[in-house]
Amino acid sequence: MQNKIISVTNLKKNYGNFEAVKGISFDVYEGEIFGLLGPNGAGKSTTLEIIETLRDKTSGEVIVDGLNLDTEPGSIKKIIGVQLQTSGFYPGLNLLELIELFAGLYNRSVDAMELLRLVNLADKAKNKYKEMSGGQKQRFSIATTLINQPKIVFLDEPTTGLDPQARRNLWDLIRDIRSKGTTVIITTHYMDEAEQLCDRIAIMDEGRIIALASPDKMIDDLVAGGFERPKQVKAANLEDVFINLTGKEMREA
Ligand code: ADP
Ligand code: MG
Repeated sequence: MQNKIISVTNLKKNYGNFEAVKGISFDVYEGEIFGLLGPNGAGKSTTLEIIETLRDKTSGEVIVDGLNLDTEPGSIKKIIGVQLQTSGFYPGLNLLELIELFAGLYNRSVDAMELLRLVNLADKAKNKYKEMSGGQKQRFSIATTLINQPKIVFLDEPTTGLDPQARRNLWDLIRDIRSKGTTVIITTHYMDEAEQLCDRIAIMDEGRIIALASPDKMIDDLVAGGFERPKQVKAANLEDVFINLTGKEMREA
């Protein structure tokens, strides 16, 4: 898993006089789930959008699958999957029609039903986007990132606002996508999610990466430094209670 699929070196982004990204460097390995964590305003979305070719950088080097962002942004676009703004989904079309529409835009032929099956929405194929629940909308939007059979998928806070079941369904989906060989880069504010899902995480703060390792290593390092939790941790938490009471299975009507 040591093949670098993304290499970012000394990346900087200024908005006017404001330095949003202050010279960050990191690599993402092929086939991993890489998490970008950090408080609001840390520079996560800016960083992702630069790699996605959607935003100009101020300086630094970005290589994606051997392609230099400065010279081959068009080729990068072809091998990545980016979640589209949901406002771009035509409200009058059903899910099947939307996938076919996007496939046409990408100039790709896809088995739209197969894609909907992957994201567990086959039974909603004839429903309109606006009729979906929050979790279903997120799964559908992830399906649209897979239309061009990308090598890398970028997910910016895909689980924000979802209920615990929908969040878990999305974790399964993300693991599925990775198991097919696709590299996943995800941002999240949920630490339990990052811990469960990500092979490695970078923690950003005020435009800098302040830590980069596997979740396990970060926790071990903290404990080795003498950190102790202030109180005895119970064998379960409130989320366990919630999931136990309401069930793990899909609950989105
Ligand atoms: P994150 O995704 O980590 O919350 P962002 O990358 O969205 O952070 O934003 C990083 C910083 O850059 C924030 O302070 C934000 O206000 C600022 N910023 C983001 N986009 C713009 C923009 N288009 N113009 C000016 N400032 C921006
Ligand atoms: Mg953001």
